[in-house]
Amino acid sequence: MNNHPAAPAHMIVNGRLVDYPEATVHLMSPALRYGLNVFEGLRAYWNETEQQLYVFRLQEHLQRLSQSMKLLRFDPQFETEEVAENTFELLRANTVREQCHLRISAYIEGDGEHHVSGPVSYFVAAKIRPRSPKTKTGIRCRISTWVRMADSAMPPRIKCGANYVNARLARYEAHHDGYDDAIMLNGAGRVAEGPGACVFMVRRGALVTPPITDGILESITRDTLIELATDNGITVVERSIDRTELYACDELFMAGSAAEVLPVTEVDGVAVGDGQVGAITTLLQDVYFATVIGQTNSNKAWLCSVY
Ligand code: PMP
Repeated sequence: MNNHPAAPAHMIVNGRLVDYPEATVHLMSPALRYGLNVFEGLRAYWNETEQQLYVFRLQEHLQRLSQSMKLLRFDPQFETEEVAENTFELLRANTVREQCHLRISAYIEGDGEHHVSGPVSYFVAAKIRPRSPKTKTGIRCRISTWVRMADSAMPPRIKCGANYVNARLARYEAHHDGYDDAIMLNGAGRVAEGPGACVFMVRRGALVTPPITDGILESITRDTLIELATDNGITVVERSIDRTELYACDELFMAGSAAEVLPVTEVDGVAVGDGQVGAITTLLQDVYFATVIGQTNSNKAWLCSVY
């Protein structure tokens, strides 16, 4: 990495390693004019003992990128295997040896209108991004006045940049009102997700999360935690969640590749449980943090070695 830890020296654009300032797009591109881009955010974890960097669930992220491109009718001229190779190349070129966040994005260049399918370019970028200290203390959330967009309007299942306008409205409002983040309800008034993470609650000993048909992104961390919780003897229920259950539940947390497992200790000024980070949340955090860094022998298939 270079002197400024947040800014990587290099990026990959269409398979080519370029210097960071060279990674540009034309102002007339549909990517800029209409927000025609799809992307993935994922993490790579440095294991000091093994002197190894692991990209967490890269294949699943690339599959979701392909799904997003398919659903938005992008016509890419590249294979995801190539993007995976580029990701490793980039991390090696930037000599990343600490926890970082990766961004893989596919976007429409040229100067076409909003119905065009290409040309589709892609980039891969990496930034050093340590774990948030709030994973220890928890965050305060509000229920957004903004409704999560519906599958019939702007499907949250598609991870496209334009969907983050809805997320921005919710997060901006939450920050403006003095909260750490927002939780959005769907059109039916049920809990959907946060602006950048999915939602889990603990009620009566079970781990509950909205089904993927309630207007949410098909989160890879959600999938990971369902499996890890089940492996650890915790009952997992995928069902719709009412707003009032967020005030009544024992534990609540957000989860995502960037957020990891982030406890929520307060919603709309109401303490979640006793207002402290709960036991099941702590257990899942420990298991998740050990898994992503390769400290457990199970689930190794989720890790891709860089060096
Ligand atoms: N929902 C939204 C809206 C998100 O932006 C994210 C982060 N990508 C998630 C959920 C969590 O998804 P994942 O676990 O795949 O990172």
